[in-house]
Amino acid sequence: MSRIGIMGGTFDPIHYGHLVLSEQVRSEFDLDKIIFVPAGIPPHKNKESVTENMHRYFMTVLATIHNPNFTVSDIEVKSEEVSYTIYTIETLKRMNEYEEMYFIVGADAILEIETWKDYDKLLGSCHFVAGTRPGNESQALVEKIEMLRNSFNAKIHLLKVPALDISSTDIRNSVAAGKSIKYLVPDAVEQYIYKNGLYK
Ligand code: ATP
Ligand code: MG
Repeated sequence: MSRIGIMGGTFDPIHYGHLVLSEQVRSEFDLDKIIFVPAGIPPHKNKESVTENMHRYFMTVLATIHNPNFTVSDIEVKSEEVSYTIYTIETLKRMNEYEEMYFIVGADAILEIETWKDYDKLLGSCHFVAGTRPGNESQALVEKIEMLRNSFNAKIHLLKVPALDISSTDIRNSVAAGKSIKYLVPDAVEQYIYKNGLYK
């Protein structure tokens, strides 16, 4: 039996913000492993504007390969269905033996969680860890978490992670503009992006 963390995201591309957040949560909550789950067809994003599943999956594998506690799941990228977090959590619960499950998100995701499918059920189904991201340590966030705890009995933990003001959007824009992304993503991910001509 183990304590596992789930880190979902579009990962277009995965960057050090995602990796630092996951590792900090793993260490803080004493988790045995983190399962990264690249999103299949993200409900919130326009399908045409998201890089092919295969590329995002490979970049996630490359980025996590040196951490023995990090694994990658292909359940969302290989699915034909829209990948709602509630289904993913239920599937991962069936596939894994675990004692406690922690779903890891950036604080920005908590602020919009009420737009997620079956969010009330989702909030009751596992622990949530919200990592603060630069600009998200607001009073609104603290109030939101308080409300979700009271209304849905949500087990939400707030974790201050080292400020890494990195986003996939900025990385895509930098590549398109011919600017450096070195030290924002792992070397292998940087190489993979150039080799496959992504974000040009
Ligand atoms: P995009 O700019 O395309 O939205 P992103 O950088 O936000 O990409 P996602 O794949 O959307 O990356 O994020 C997956 C999860 O990681 C989300 O819960 C998000 O809040 C969190 N996250 C992303 N970047 C950071 C960061 N720098 N620090 C902490 N959490 C982050
Ligand atoms: Mg995002």
